[in-house]
Amino acid sequence: MGESYIEPAPVHHGEPNPFESMMARFDKAAEILNLEKGVYEYLQKPVKQVIVSIPIQMDNGEIKVFEGYRVIHDNILGPSKGGIRYAPDVTLDEVKALASWMTWKCAVANIPFGGAKGAVKCDPSKLSRVELEKITRRYTANMFSVFGPDTDIPAPDMNTNEQTMAWIMDTFSMHSQKTETAVVTGKPLIIGGSLGRVEATGRGVMITTMEALKKLNMKPEDTSVVVQGFGNVGSISAMLLRQQGCKITAISDVTGGYYNKNGIDIESAMAYTKKNRTLEGGGFGDKVSNAELLELECDALVPAAKEDQISDENAGNIKAKLIVEGANGPTSADADDILREKGIMVIPDILANAGGVTVSYFEWVQNRLGYYWDIDDVNKRHDRMMREAFDHVYETAVKYKTTMRLGAYILAIDKVAKTLVLRGIYG
Ligand code: NAD
Repeated sequence: MGESYIEPAPVHHGEPNPFESMMARFDKAAEILNLEKGVYEYLQKPVKQVIVSIPIQMDNGEIKVFEGYRVIHDNILGPSKGGIRYAPDVTLDEVKALASWMTWKCAVANIPFGGAKGAVKCDPSKLSRVELEKITRRYTANMFSVFGPDTDIPAPDMNTNEQTMAWIMDTFSMHSQKTETAVVTGKPLIIGGSLGRVEATGRGVMITTMEALKKLNMKPEDTSVVVQGFGNVGSISAMLLRQQGCKITAISDVTGGYYNKNGIDIESAMAYTKKNRTLEGGGFGDKVSNAELLELECDALVPAAKEDQISDENAGNIKAKLIVEGANGPTSADADDILREKGIMVIPDILANAGGVTVSYFEWVQNRLGYYWDIDDVNKRHDRMMREAFDHVYETAVKYKTTMRLGAYILAIDKVAKTLVLRGIYG
């Protein structure tokens, strides 16, 4: 591919940005694949961007108007899939970037979905439950022609949850005059959610970690693991890795890190955070900062808190042999080369945390079948798909003599681009 049409990724000034980091990797993979100019341009931009006004009557009687977005990056592999976030500072640009991220994640996981993302610009901490329900229902009604089991399937994201998904399902069903469970995933179990969905992302982190350890000729029982973040992804990952025989030597949450070289009892830590909502005061080990935690002596590091934790400033100090990205975008693009030079294997977010979207896909399948699987069935299918995804990424990385991260992007972009060319351009 000639260099002329790929705009170089923006140079960071100050804080790195996870979406720019993602685009930098997209560009690198496109270049390695020698992607045709037209295909590159097609995949760089979303196919649809919808902005809606959401007027609601607040509890005090006032009318307030919110803004809602839904961006469909593409529907090449199938209907688009992606979460909806509620945040006061969300922008259309952010939603566009997150939508394309979903395209690559679904392609890596071999799920027949395109990528999408949605948002409502609002501050949920300042809204009552009734106001949140009104916003959700009006947003759904305004997106009635966008959402659909065969077109675009939302899911929870920041500040949205099972209840939000239940309201979306109900509103969409009212307009359709029939129950449409498959329009949204991440629903409560009782109205068509899937068993295993809550644990799925952590389970995918565990499966990809086990596969990586095999490649590195390391045994779980000889592997010490440091986990950053102790929410849904971090705590479940830690628990499942512990069950595989790994020693979890440090955990952390927003209050800081806790290090114990003899290993931390994860079940107790989970019980403690369930009760106290924090790790602080639980006596799990020596206190370290979240920055120090990343640089601890260990075999594997699982960043499962937030974006931009590993950058060119600290990548050189990381001692782990393996990094498994439970969080989205925890490593900035400028750290990739440093980690590669140090020989650290990185399982990228679009592979490592794809267990969540994989079980979301299972939820959609079960809704459409009207037949629900037991937990063993869900886990068995999940584990197989995650192992296959790992193998495909690994083989691609070997073939192109590159990292697992670029291997994942190459695999995803190649698959979507080939499908696009086969389907052809209508018009
Ligand atoms: P969560 O809100 O359940 O937990 C987040 C955890 O990170 C909490 O323990 C919190 O205290 C901690 N934390 C927050 N700020 C921190 C900081 N500055 N330093 C250290 N720890 C900090 O969130 P989650 O669902 O576990 O998601 C974590 C990450 O995984 C996010 O990047 C999310 O986008 C990604 N992810 C989640 C899922 C999912 O299914 N939940 C799927 C894919 C990716």
